[in-house]
Amino acid sequence: MIITDLKADLIRSRSWVHADHIGHVHPGQERPSTVTMIRIETDEGITGYSFSGETYYTPREGVELPGGPVSEALRQVDPVAVKNTANSTLNLLRNRIRPVIMGQDALSREKIFHMLYKMQRSNHNSGLTDSLLAQVDKALWDLFGRYCGQPVYKLLGGHRTKVKAYASTMVGDHFKGGLSSPEDYAAFAKQCIAEGYKAIKLHTWADDSWDNDNVIGKPDVKKDIACCRAVREAVGPDIDLMLDCFHYYDRYEALELGKAIQGLNYLWYEEPMEEYNVSSYKWLKSKLDIPIIGPEVAKGKYFTRAEWISNQVCDIVRTGSGDVGGITPMMKTVHTCESFGIPLEIHGTGSANLHVMAAMMVPGKYYERGMLHPFLEYNNCPPWLNQPIDSMDKEGYVAVPQLPGLGYDINWDYIKENLIESNE
Ligand code: MG
Repeated sequence: MIITDLKADLIRSRSWVHADHIGHVHPGQERPSTVTMIRIETDEGITGYSFSGETYYTPREGVELPGGPVSEALRQVDPVAVKNTANSTLNLLRNRIRPVIMGQDALSREKIFHMLYKMQRSNHNSGLTDSLLAQVDKALWDLFGRYCGQPVYKLLGGHRTKVKAYASTMVGDHFKGGLSSPEDYAAFAKQCIAEGYKAIKLHTWADDSWDNDNVIGKPDVKKDIACCRAVREAVGPDIDLMLDCFHYYDRYEALELGKAIQGLNYLWYEEPMEEYNVSSYKWLKSKLDIPIIGPEVAKGKYFTRAEWISNQVCDIVRTGSGDVGGITPMMKTVHTCESFGIPLEIHGTGSANLHVMAAMMVPGKYYERGMLHPFLEYNNCPPWLNQPIDSMDKEGYVAVPQLPGLGYDINWDYIKENLIESNE
């Protein structure tokens, strides 16, 4: 089955989520947005799809979203900037990736992954990120699923049909009634439990803005500890809690915080320091009993994960589709973890992560659902789909989509009405 074309379509959307200067997201005023849809076509008439976004937030009823002076603290994303970012992605897909995969066997995912991965070495191909490779790999897996008439997780091995989710909060802010204080986190934690979540991961304050006037939420070990304690007290001893804090604490700050959450019986401790500082993680791990999880954002795909395992840097490994280049490279880490008897927890939301989780035998306890904020509704269907990818039931489980491929039920009417441009 030969690949005959790669189409990259830009679809109009809107968003109430803004990124701060590090890239953490926060609620804000409505802004224009786009989603990219990749279509990989074949000579047998079967097409594989992937979308750059699979979630869609809306403001919760009665909530006044931050704006005016507050939104000055958020990166202002104007329509031109959105278009330019999207254009660079479209350009790479159409002019770098398309010529390479045209004429290849659509079922040779491993070969295509290696071709694209090795292209990343050259500065001439800058912008060819693991996140972009993941979009292509996902479309190839979707295609394979549609070809076989099976959901992807079954093609990966098939282990379970539903996965327990944790509520993954947005990063702390200074919005009253949002995530501005330990009390805010405690109140939101109770709300998450009422929605069915059996576990919660806190992202605390992580914006050490270069401009003091623009701080969304300054990192503070003492405030983090107070927050973790307030949430533990709010939800009781039976809910699993995890912490993902500011990523650039020094060793001693990280140790102080780690000891505190260890005493509060947190399930894992995530990225309190720069992940390239491997010796600091080894040092921290030697001082704490609470499991250290990582790496999440460190580059190097499954090679970096293998190094963390072999050097005993972490207790739980982390990988996510967008971090390493898709399902194909993720599965290598899944099997490495199984071989070494080390748990693996998947980073981030979305269909690829869900299908990989459903195929893993190595313990991966939770699907990361979010990121969540008291001001925003997460339980929506993106308008470009007819059903959401990761609906959660009252018991806190997300069912793995059973449609062939990744589980996209595409809303073609919306796409036709909102198509900005295509290389059709
Ligand atoms: Mg994280």
